[in-house]
Amino acid sequence: MALSDFPRQQLTFGPSPVHTLDRLTEHLSQRGGGATTIWAKREDCNAGLAYGGNKTRKLEYLIPDAVASGADMLVSIGGYQSNHTRQVAAVAAKMGMQAVLVQENWVDWPDSVNDRVGNILLSRVMGAEVRLDSAGFDIGFRDSWKQAIEDVKRRGGTPYAIPAGASDHKLGGLGFAGWAHEVAQQEEELGVFFDTIVVCTVTGSTHAGMIAGFADLEAAGGRKRTVLGIDASATLEKTRDQVERIARSTAELIGVPRDLRDDEITVLEGWAGDLYGIPVQSTLDAIRLTGQLEGMIIDPVYEGKSMAGLIDLVTSGRIEPGSNVLYAHLGGQPALNAYSALFTHTDPVEV
Ligand SMILES: *Cc1c(COP(=O)(O)O)cnc(C)c1O
Repeated sequence: MALSDFPRQQLTFGPSPVHTLDRLTEHLSQRGGGATTIWAKREDCNAGLAYGGNKTRKLEYLIPDAVASGADMLVSIGGYQSNHTRQVAAVAAKMGMQAVLVQENWVDWPDSVNDRVGNILLSRVMGAEVRLDSAGFDIGFRDSWKQAIEDVKRRGGTPYAIPAGASDHKLGGLGFAGWAHEVAQQEEELGVFFDTIVVCTVTGSTHAGMIAGFADLEAAGGRKRTVLGIDASATLEKTRDQVERIARSTAELIGVPRDLRDDEITVLEGWAGDLYGIPVQSTLDAIRLTGQLEGMIIDPVYEGKSMAGLIDLVTSGRIEPGSNVLYAHLGGQPALNAYSALFTHTDPVEV
Protein backbone atom coordinates (compact mmCIF):
# COMPACT_ATOMS: atom_id res chain seq x y z
CA MET A 1 0.00 0.00 0.00
CA ALA A 2 1.01 3.60 -0.54
CA LEU A 3 0.35 6.46 1.85
CA SER A 4 -2.42 7.77 -0.43
CA ASP A 5 -4.32 4.50 0.00
CA PHE A 6 -4.99 5.20 3.69
CA PRO A 7 -8.21 7.02 4.51
CA ARG A 8 -7.67 10.49 5.98
CA GLN A 9 -10.18 12.61 7.87
CA GLN A 10 -9.27 16.22 7.22
CA LEU A 11 -8.89 18.03 10.55
CA THR A 12 -6.17 20.53 9.59
CA PHE A 13 -6.79 23.58 7.39
CA GLY A 14 -4.62 22.01 4.66
CA PRO A 15 -0.86 22.36 4.14
CA SER A 16 0.67 24.18 7.13
CA PRO A 17 2.48 27.49 6.44
CA VAL A 18 6.20 27.57 5.66
CA HIS A 19 8.19 30.79 6.00
CA THR A 20 11.66 32.13 6.74
CA LEU A 21 12.74 33.34 10.18
CA ASP A 22 14.76 36.29 8.89
CA ARG A 23 15.88 37.94 12.11
CA LEU A 24 16.79 34.60 13.72
CA THR A 25 18.73 33.71 10.57
CA GLU A 26 20.64 37.00 10.75
CA HIS A 27 21.27 36.58 14.50
CA LEU A 28 22.68 33.07 14.12
CA SER A 29 24.76 33.96 11.07
CA GLN A 30 26.61 36.55 13.16
CA ARG A 31 27.36 33.88 15.74
CA GLY A 32 29.01 31.31 13.52
CA GLY A 33 26.04 30.10 11.51
CA GLY A 34 27.44 31.30 8.18
CA ALA A 35 24.89 31.62 5.42
CA THR A 36 22.47 29.10 6.88
CA THR A 37 18.83 30.08 6.40
CA ILE A 38 16.26 29.13 9.04
CA TRP A 39 12.70 28.36 7.98
CA ALA A 40 9.72 27.21 10.04
CA LYS A 41 6.79 24.98 9.13
CA ARG A 42 3.95 25.80 11.46
CA GLU A 43 1.96 22.94 12.96
CA ASP A 44 1.12 25.35 15.79
CA CYS A 45 -1.39 26.99 13.47
CA ASN A 46 -2.36 24.04 11.30
CA ALA A 47 -5.99 23.76 12.40
CA GLY A 48 -8.95 25.57 13.86
CA LEU A 49 -9.43 22.86 16.50
CA ALA A 50 -8.21 24.22 19.85
CA TYR A 51 -4.96 25.67 18.44
CA GLY A 52 -4.04 22.50 16.53
CA GLY A 53 -0.56 21.00 16.68
CA ASN A 54 1.27 17.87 15.56
CA LYS A 55 -1.21 15.44 17.17
CA THR A 56 -4.06 16.85 15.05
CA ARG A 57 -2.14 15.82 11.95
CA LYS A 58 -1.58 12.30 13.30
CA LEU A 59 -5.25 11.99 14.27
CA GLU A 60 -6.28 12.58 10.64
CA TYR A 61 -5.23 8.98 10.02
CA LEU A 62 -6.50 7.44 13.28
CA ILE A 63 -10.01 8.88 13.14
CA PRO A 64 -11.19 6.94 10.05
CA ASP A 65 -10.06 3.75 11.84
CA ALA A 66 -11.94 4.81 14.99
CA VAL A 67 -15.10 5.57 13.00
CA ALA A 68 -14.86 2.26 11.11
CA SER A 69 -14.56 0.41 14.42
CA GLY A 70 -17.86 1.89 15.60
CA ALA A 71 -16.23 3.77 18.47
CA ASP A 72 -18.00 6.64 20.19
CA MET A 73 -15.32 7.38 22.81
CA LEU A 74 -11.69 8.31 22.29
CA VAL A 75 -9.63 7.20 25.29
CA SER A 76 -6.16 8.65 25.64
CA ILE A 77 -3.42 9.57 28.05
CA GLY A 78 -0.82 12.23 28.76
CA GLY A 79 0.56 14.55 31.40
CA TYR A 80 -1.55 17.24 33.09
CA GLN A 81 -0.38 19.73 30.46
CA SER A 82 -0.54 17.28 27.54
CA ASN A 83 -1.01 18.97 24.18
CA HIS A 84 -1.96 15.60 22.79
CA THR A 85 -4.96 14.99 25.04
CA ARG A 86 -6.17 18.56 24.37
CA GLN A 87 -6.11 17.80 20.65
CA VAL A 88 -7.93 14.51 21.22
CA ALA A 89 -10.62 16.47 23.12
CA ALA A 90 -10.97 18.93 20.22
CA VAL A 91 -11.16 16.20 17.60
CA ALA A 92 -13.71 14.26 19.67
CA ALA A 93 -15.88 17.40 19.86
CA LYS A 94 -15.56 17.99 16.12
CA MET A 95 -16.43 14.36 15.33
CA GLY A 96 -19.37 14.21 17.75
CA MET A 97 -17.56 11.73 20.00
CA GLN A 98 -16.72 11.74 23.70
CA ALA A 99 -13.13 11.99 24.99
CA VAL A 100 -11.91 10.24 28.15
CA LEU A 101 -8.46 11.52 29.12
CA VAL A 102 -6.14 10.07 31.73
CA GLN A 103 -3.92 12.95 32.85
CA GLU A 104 -0.90 11.80 34.82
CA ASN A 105 1.49 13.79 36.93
CA TRP A 106 4.32 13.50 34.37
CA VAL A 107 6.04 16.66 35.45
CA ASP A 108 6.95 17.54 39.00
CA TRP A 109 6.38 21.21 38.40
CA PRO A 110 5.34 23.19 41.48
CA ASP A 111 2.93 25.57 39.79
CA SER A 112 -0.30 25.75 41.76
CA VAL A 113 -2.42 25.96 38.60
CA ASN A 114 -0.58 23.24 36.65
CA ASP A 115 -3.71 21.05 36.66
CA ARG A 116 -6.09 23.93 35.89
CA VAL A 117 -4.79 26.22 33.14
CA GLY A 118 -3.59 25.83 29.58
CA ASN A 119 -4.21 22.48 27.92
CA ILE A 120 -6.22 20.86 30.70
CA LEU A 121 -8.50 23.88 30.94
CA LEU A 122 -9.18 23.68 27.21
CA SER A 123 -9.96 19.96 27.41
CA ARG A 124 -12.51 20.65 30.14
CA VAL A 125 -14.05 23.48 28.10
CA MET A 126 -14.45 21.04 25.20
CA GLY A 127 -16.34 18.55 27.35
CA ALA A 128 -13.74 15.84 27.81
CA GLU A 129 -13.84 13.59 30.86
CA VAL A 130 -10.56 14.45 32.57
CA ARG A 131 -9.17 11.92 35.07
CA LEU A 132 -6.22 13.07 37.13
CA ASP A 133 -3.78 10.33 38.08
CA SER A 134 -0.64 10.67 40.19
CA ALA A 135 1.59 8.36 38.06
CA GLY A 136 4.85 9.79 36.69
CA PHE A 137 6.32 10.13 33.18
CA ASP A 138 6.42 7.11 30.89
CA ILE A 139 5.75 6.92 27.15
CA GLY A 140 4.61 3.27 27.43
CA PHE A 141 1.27 1.58 28.17
CA ARG A 142 -0.23 2.22 31.59
CA ASP A 143 -2.66 0.58 34.02
CA SER A 144 -4.64 3.78 34.54
CA TRP A 145 -5.26 3.85 30.81
CA LYS A 146 -6.38 0.22 30.65
CA GLN A 147 -8.68 1.02 33.57
CA ALA A 148 -10.23 3.95 31.68
CA ILE A 149 -10.89 1.71 28.68
CA GLU A 150 -12.55 -0.91 30.91
CA ASP A 151 -14.69 1.77 32.57
CA VAL A 152 -15.92 3.02 29.21
CA LYS A 153 -16.92 -0.53 28.22
CA ARG A 154 -18.69 -1.08 31.52
CA ARG A 155 -20.75 2.05 30.89
CA GLY A 156 -21.79 0.68 27.49
CA GLY A 157 -19.52 2.91 25.40
CA THR A 158 -17.33 1.76 22.54
CA PRO A 159 -13.78 2.96 23.23
CA TYR A 160 -11.05 3.67 20.72
CA ALA A 161 -7.67 3.63 22.43
CA ILE A 162 -5.12 6.24 21.44
CA PRO A 163 -1.74 5.82 23.15
CA ALA A 164 0.39 8.69 24.48
CA GLY A 165 1.14 11.12 21.69
CA ALA A 166 -0.79 8.90 19.23
CA SER A 167 2.58 7.26 18.66
CA ASP A 168 2.61 3.57 19.57
CA HIS A 169 -0.27 2.85 17.19
CA LYS A 170 -0.05 1.17 13.80
CA LEU A 171 -1.22 4.34 12.02
CA GLY A 172 0.66 6.80 14.28
CA GLY A 173 3.46 7.55 11.80
CA LEU A 174 1.25 8.27 8.78
CA GLY A 175 0.47 11.90 9.58
CA PHE A 176 4.11 12.95 9.43
CA ALA A 177 4.90 10.69 6.50
CA GLY A 178 2.29 12.90 4.83
CA TRP A 179 4.05 15.96 6.22
CA ALA A 180 7.20 14.91 4.33
CA HIS A 181 5.25 14.75 1.08
CA GLU A 182 3.72 18.13 1.86
CA VAL A 183 7.22 19.57 2.38
CA ALA A 184 8.31 18.27 -1.04
CA GLN A 185 5.30 19.93 -2.64
CA GLN A 186 6.00 23.23 -0.87
CA GLU A 187 9.67 23.08 -1.87
CA GLU A 188 8.61 22.94 -5.48
CA GLU A 189 6.35 25.95 -5.04
CA LEU A 190 9.01 27.93 -3.14
CA GLY A 191 12.00 26.87 -5.23
CA VAL A 192 14.01 25.74 -2.21
CA PHE A 193 15.39 22.44 -0.88
CA PHE A 194 15.47 21.83 2.86
CA ASP A 195 18.61 19.76 3.40
CA THR A 196 18.14 19.63 7.18
CA ILE A 197 14.95 19.21 9.20
CA VAL A 198 14.99 19.84 12.97
CA VAL A 199 12.19 18.27 15.00
CA CYS A 200 11.45 17.73 18.66
CA THR A 201 10.95 14.07 19.63
CA VAL A 202 9.42 12.43 22.72
CA THR A 203 6.84 9.72 21.98
CA GLY A 204 8.45 9.40 18.57
CA SER A 205 5.91 9.14 15.76
CA THR A 206 6.33 12.71 14.54
CA HIS A 207 10.03 12.19 13.90
CA ALA A 208 9.51 8.57 12.80
CA GLY A 209 6.79 9.50 10.33
CA MET A 210 9.07 12.11 8.77
CA ILE A 211 11.87 9.55 8.40
CA ALA A 212 9.53 7.11 6.66
CA GLY A 213 8.01 9.83 4.47
CA PHE A 214 11.36 11.20 3.33
CA ALA A 215 12.62 7.65 2.65
CA ASP A 216 9.50 7.18 0.51
CA LEU A 217 10.35 10.35 -1.45
CA GLU A 218 14.00 9.33 -1.78
CA ALA A 219 12.95 5.95 -3.16
CA ALA A 220 10.94 7.81 -5.79
CA GLY A 221 14.07 9.72 -6.89
CA GLY A 222 14.11 12.55 -4.36
CA ARG A 223 17.30 14.02 -2.95
CA LYS A 224 18.77 12.80 0.34
CA ARG A 225 18.32 15.01 3.36
CA THR A 226 18.94 14.89 7.10
CA VAL A 227 16.23 14.75 9.75
CA LEU A 228 17.62 15.66 13.19
CA GLY A 229 15.42 14.64 16.10
CA ILE A 230 16.06 16.63 19.27
CA ASP A 231 15.23 14.59 22.35
CA ALA A 232 13.00 16.31 24.92
CA SER A 233 12.12 13.15 26.89
CA ALA A 234 15.38 12.87 28.85
CA THR A 235 14.87 9.10 28.48
CA LEU A 236 16.96 8.94 25.32
CA GLU A 237 17.20 5.17 24.84
CA LYS A 238 13.45 4.60 25.11
CA THR A 239 12.69 7.43 22.74
CA ARG A 240 15.33 6.39 20.21
CA ASP A 241 14.05 2.80 20.25
CA GLN A 242 10.49 3.97 19.78
CA VAL A 243 11.48 6.30 16.89
CA GLU A 244 13.33 3.45 15.17
CA ARG A 245 10.50 0.95 15.66
CA ILE A 246 7.81 3.35 14.41
CA ALA A 247 9.96 4.58 11.51
CA ARG A 248 10.51 1.01 10.31
CA SER A 249 6.89 -0.07 10.72
CA THR A 250 5.61 3.09 9.03
CA ALA A 251 8.05 2.68 6.13
CA GLU A 252 6.80 -0.87 5.66
CA LEU A 253 3.17 0.22 5.92
CA ILE A 254 3.51 2.82 3.15
CA GLY A 255 5.54 0.52 0.91
CA VAL A 256 9.05 2.02 1.09
CA PRO A 257 10.90 -0.54 -1.04
CA ARG A 258 14.04 -0.81 1.10
CA ASP A 259 15.11 -1.07 4.73
CA LEU A 260 15.82 2.18 6.53
CA ARG A 261 19.50 2.91 7.03
CA ASP A 262 20.77 3.50 10.57
CA ASP A 263 22.02 6.94 9.52
CA GLU A 264 18.44 7.97 8.77
CA ILE A 265 17.49 7.61 12.43
CA THR A 266 19.19 10.36 14.43
CA VAL A 267 18.05 11.38 17.91
CA LEU A 268 20.34 13.96 19.48
CA GLU A 269 20.66 14.60 23.20
CA GLY A 270 21.94 17.66 24.97
CA TRP A 271 18.97 20.00 25.29
CA ALA A 272 16.39 18.02 27.31
CA GLY A 273 17.93 18.80 30.68
CA ASP A 274 17.52 16.13 33.34
CA LEU A 275 13.77 15.70 33.20
CA TYR A 276 10.87 15.74 30.77
CA GLY A 277 8.84 18.91 31.17
CA ILE A 278 11.43 20.88 33.14
CA PRO A 279 13.06 23.66 31.14
CA VAL A 280 16.76 24.45 31.55
CA GLN A 281 18.58 27.72 30.83
CA SER A 282 19.03 26.94 27.12
CA THR A 283 15.27 26.29 26.85
CA LEU A 284 14.40 29.65 28.37
CA ASP A 285 17.01 31.45 26.26
CA ALA A 286 15.55 29.86 23.11
CA ILE A 287 12.00 30.82 24.09
CA ARG A 288 12.97 34.46 24.70
CA LEU A 289 15.17 34.69 21.61
CA THR A 290 12.49 33.30 19.30
CA GLY A 291 9.82 35.48 20.88
CA GLN A 292 11.88 38.66 20.76
CA LEU A 293 13.31 38.23 17.26
CA GLU A 294 10.36 36.67 15.50
CA GLY A 295 7.22 37.02 17.61
CA MET A 296 7.05 33.23 17.39
CA ILE A 297 5.97 31.53 20.60
CA ILE A 298 7.47 28.21 21.69
CA ASP A 299 6.94 26.24 24.89
CA PRO A 300 9.18 25.07 27.79
CA VAL A 301 8.43 21.33 27.38
CA TYR A 302 9.10 20.64 23.70
CA GLU A 303 9.78 23.35 21.18
CA GLY A 304 11.98 25.43 23.50
CA LYS A 305 14.27 22.41 23.73
CA SER A 306 14.33 21.66 20.00
CA MET A 307 14.95 25.34 19.22
CA ALA A 308 17.84 25.36 21.73
CA GLY A 309 19.21 22.40 19.77
CA LEU A 310 18.81 24.18 16.44
CA ILE A 311 20.59 27.28 17.75
CA ASP A 312 23.60 25.27 18.95
CA LEU A 313 23.75 23.05 15.86
CA VAL A 314 23.74 26.08 13.56
CA THR A 315 26.17 28.29 15.50
CA SER A 316 28.63 25.42 16.07
CA GLY A 317 28.68 24.62 12.36
CA ARG A 318 27.47 21.08 13.01
CA ILE A 319 24.70 21.93 10.56
CA GLU A 320 26.79 22.83 7.56
CA PRO A 321 26.92 26.59 6.91
CA GLY A 322 24.88 27.46 3.84
CA SER A 323 22.16 24.93 4.65
CA ASN A 324 18.44 25.53 4.41
CA VAL A 325 17.15 24.37 7.78
CA LEU A 326 13.45 23.67 8.29
CA TYR A 327 12.34 23.91 11.91
CA ALA A 328 9.19 21.87 12.52
CA HIS A 329 7.14 23.94 14.96
CA LEU A 330 4.86 21.29 16.47
CA GLY A 331 2.65 23.54 18.62
CA GLY A 332 2.36 23.38 22.39
CA GLN A 333 1.96 27.03 23.42
CA PRO A 334 -0.97 26.49 25.84
CA ALA A 335 1.41 24.79 28.32
CA LEU A 336 3.22 28.12 28.80
CA ASN A 337 0.37 29.10 31.15
CA ALA A 338 1.56 26.53 33.69
CA TYR A 339 5.07 28.07 33.67
CA SER A 340 4.15 31.65 34.49
CA ALA A 341 6.61 31.86 37.39
CA LEU A 342 9.46 31.77 34.87
CA PHE A 343 8.19 34.85 33.07
CA THR A 344 7.19 37.39 35.69
CA HIS A 345 9.17 40.19 34.04
CA THR A 346 10.57 41.15 30.66
CA ASP A 347 14.06 39.81 30.13
CA PRO A 348 15.53 41.32 26.95
CA VAL A 349 17.94 39.09 25.05
CA GLU A 350 21.14 40.54 23.66
CA VAL A 351 20.95 40.88 19.93
C1 LIG B 1 3.83 15.79 21.35
C2 LIG B 1 4.66 16.98 21.04
C3 LIG B 1 5.97 16.85 20.57
C4 LIG B 1 6.65 15.50 20.42
O1 LIG B 1 6.08 14.74 19.38
P1 LIG B 1 6.15 13.14 19.48
O2 LIG B 1 5.44 12.65 18.28
O3 LIG B 1 5.49 12.79 20.77
O4 LIG B 1 7.59 12.75 19.50
C5 LIG B 1 6.69 17.98 20.28
N1 LIG B 1 6.15 19.20 20.44
C6 LIG B 1 4.89 19.38 20.87
C7 LIG B 1 4.37 20.76 21.03
C8 LIG B 1 4.10 18.27 21.18
O5 LIG B 1 2.84 18.46 21.62
